[in-house]
Amino acid sequence: MIRILLVEDEESISNLIKINLELDNYTVVACENGKKAVEVFNNERFDLIILDIMLPGMSGIEVCQQIRLTDSSIPILMLSARSQPEDRIKGLKKGADDYLSKPFVLEELLLRIEKLLQRSKDDIKSEMEAYEFGNNEVDFNTFEARGPKGIFVLTKKEVMLLRLLIERKNQVVSRKEILQAVWGYDVIPSTRTIDNFILVLRKNFEEDPSHPKHFISVRGVGYKFVD
Ligand code: CA
Repeated sequence: MIRILLVEDEESISNLIKINLELDNYTVVACENGKKAVEVFNNERFDLIILDIMLPGMSGIEVCQQIRLTDSSIPILMLSARSQPEDRIKGLKKGADDYLSKPFVLEELLLRIEKLLQRSKDDIKSEMEAYEFGNNEVDFNTFEARGPKGIFVLTKKEVMLLRLLIERKNQVVSRKEILQAVWGYDVIPSTRTIDNFILVLRKNFEEDPSHPKHFISVRGVGYKFVD
């Protein structure tokens, strides 16, 4: 299922886009301001973002910048007023992939979305899509996983942490590296937060969570993933 995050403060435009995308079988989560959008983005999985530049409070440019700190690949399509070319340039510089001037024709929006998704699908192919270890399985596209106790769905941060540890298999990853890679420059969580995430991974993937074989603590440094 393709999930789109729509950030637009004008209710009529937001509704129009949402209805039409849903008709095309996309799942749409709409946010009316930037702060909320960043929050939702950090907690859920999305395939594409439609981002209005002129938003109350945090602008679309700032939202884009914030998202790019933790996700360099998700396609971002910006919406801008025709009269503000400097905004579009700023947006593209801050990591947007494409833009559309308002007012736009819906068909063009849908075509651009399709194109961005196709491009991103081509890029993602080189990335790790799934991983198996022990009796466990993780699908990095759907966030679905299978462990000793059955099938479950991981949260976005759990997937980010898991991916980081797996990519650095057999190496110790420091708490600082984990914080930067998974939490970026969001509200800095306490190191306890990392420990709690590791506990969740152990609970879901370890045969015996109190004697972990895959998610190993390295005292005073961080964590290590072992196949
Ligand atoms: Ca607006």
